[in-house]
Amino acid sequence: MIKENFEPIIGLEIHVELKTKSKMFCGCNADWFGKVPNTLCCPVCLALPGTLPFPNRIAVEWCVMLGLALNCDIPVFSKFDRKNYFYPDLPKGYQISQYDKPFAINGSLETNTNQPINKLTNQQIRKKIRIRRVHMEEDTGKLLHATIDGAKCTLIDFNRSGMPLVEIVTEPDIRSSEEARIFLKKLHQIIRYIGISDADMEKGSMRLEPNISVRKFSRNKNQSPNKLKLPNYKVEVKNINSFNFAKKAIDFELDRHISILEKGEVPAQETRGWDEKKGITYTQRTKEEAHDYRYFPEPDIPPIRWTKPQISKLKAQICELPDKKIKRFIKDYKISEYDATILTDELETADYYENSIKYQVSSKKYKGITPKIIANWIINKKTDITKVTPEKLVNLISQKQQIVQMDDKELEAIIQKVLKANPKAVADFKSGKQQALMFLVGQVMREAKGKAEAEETKRFLSKMLN
Ligand code: ZN
Ligand code: MN
Repeated sequence: MIKENFEPIIGLEIHVELKTKSKMFCGCNADWFGKVPNTLCCPVCLALPGTLPFPNRIAVEWCVMLGLALNCDIPVFSKFDRKNYFYPDLPKGYQISQYDKPFAINGSLETNTNQPINKLTNQQIRKKIRIRRVHMEEDTGKLLHATIDGAKCTLIDFNRSGMPLVEIVTEPDIRSSEEARIFLKKLHQIIRYIGISDADMEKGSMRLEPNISVRKFSRNKNQSPNKLKLPNYKVEVKNINSFNFAKKAIDFELDRHISILEKGEVPAQETRGWDEKKGITYTQRTKEEAHDYRYFPEPDIPPIRWTKPQISKLKAQICELPDKKIKRFIKDYKISEYDATILTDELETADYYENSIKYQVSSKKYKGITPKIIANWIINKKTDITKVTPEKLVNLISQKQQIVQMDDKELEAIIQKVLKANPKAVADFKSGKQQALMFLVGQVMREAKGKAEAEETKRFLSKMLN
């Protein structure tokens, strides 16, 4: 629990590996996961002298599309830069990245929060998290620490080096670990919707780096939270590979900072690692400043200039995103926000749902099946959408629900017959005995031999009796 007078200040950096066919600056196969080490490399991604990078057009376009999906501005002018540092997994001695002219800036993403539901409007409180930038860079190789013939050593696999990597940086607008988790899940969902990455946390194709600090909380409502001064320190936790670990690491850090602040001290500005077994963070190194990286423009790649039609074309390629889809589902299919949220969680499920409705409408055989009933089946009966086709599902619903297969005239005829045969029950009903209605419904259903549906029969009967 966060003590009353302290306020968490959290920003996020997220790295996402794109699922392009080839790598970022060479023609190597990008499907590196699980392959024999150092088999998907060439002179370019191994950084042999004399090689030149050649940017992957699709990767650049996908980076811009993600920026657009996150409501960013796309500056007309953009360029690549070299970020210099020495580490064995970086063969060039620098990473090609973007410094002062990223592909996308000044965006935002609106998310639900864990704030209590607003009772008046019955709506969950939403919050806008500002996106500072979305830029393009390349991934590094992978280090593997092993013991060979009793000697400890580090092995390097360069299959991953030069993979297209997008970095998303938020403003420090997040105020709790749960808000961070909700934001990350939504970002993950959007990335998968637009189809630029599987964002598979276990394969490391989405890696999370929260930066965390704590300030004394001010309850002055007139002051915009964004105008308040940020703390004079920041701790970054590196390379977290699950939403829950991100939440735990943030909570661990918040507690640690508060206990230091309560002693009148300031936590050290540093980069920390996350130990998932112990559930703690640990010091890795003191935080670098930008000047430590000696950024300078990449001389081997010309700057990029976008035209307006190019940007519009990319915008048009973005599919309907979850927020919009939820609203449309509620309006068109008369389902609850809760159901619409579950059905749109994954694009595959949303498409499956709509294909089922399309089939139901076009086949004309399944009149009683509403979009609401189909939604219930997918959500509550946990239909395996990879095994049951939409056609099969609609069929199954019709069988199980014994939807009225007979037309209205047929039902009407049976009711007439039952009413004639049971004058006493009819008289009882007319004198106010509700039980008589249920008796008549039973009689009609028996006569219809399972082809009538109870609610429908009851509705018809009451109409004819009145
Ligand atoms: Zn290569
Ligand atoms: Mn980066």
